[in-house]
Amino acid sequence: MRVSETPYIETERIEKRVAVLASAIDTMAGDTKLLLLTVLDGAVPFSKLLRSKLTCSYESGTVRAKSYAGTMSGGEVEIPIHYDGPLQGRKILIVEDIVDTGRTADALIRVLEQEGPAWVRMVSLLDKPARRVVAYRPALTGFRIQDRFVVGFGMDYDGKYRELPDIRILEP
Ligand code: IMP
Ligand code: MG
Repeated sequence: MRVSETPYIETERIEKRVAVLASAIDTMAGDTKLLLLTVLDGAVPFSKLLRSKLTCSYESGTVRAKSYAGTMSGGEVEIPIHYDGPLQGRKILIVEDIVDTGRTADALIRVLEQEGPAWVRMVSLLDKPARRVVAYRPALTGFRIQDRFVVGFGMDYDGKYRELPDIRILEP
């Protein structure tokens, strides 16, 4: 496995698109305080960039949903939530790196909806609709991509390549 020499999505394109997403989120928030729940670890760089561009008020927490080993999506997802305040009545925006089979998104939303929020929505930097197993469409998506395994800008392959500043394709 190696990483493509040229970026699939350049840093500059990511920054521009994230600015657009941020203003959509500002509108979505209105004058209530959003709760942003960033999915660890992959969505951290995306979430940081996004928060740097938001003007709405928000609080932050994290969730962890680990189901991946190598390039194969596992079935079961475990979900520890790290946020101390109440979830009831909140507008919750999950910040995710990529929606692939849709299992993680589906599981996260189910767990959070049990807490009685006003709503639970997702912003995902990437969307890979070709591999969907569970029908789910994020409220906001940065880029729709083809069925390729990507790394960089937080996304990894077995813990590697997260630190790349842009998004690249992992080539066999
Ligand atoms: P899903 O449950 O199959 O939708 O997978 C969601 C999670 O798998 C994402 O949050 C990523 O962490 C990981 N994932 C899916 N596709 C890729 C990829 O192409 N590169 C890196 N991680 C991926
Ligand atoms: Mg993820």
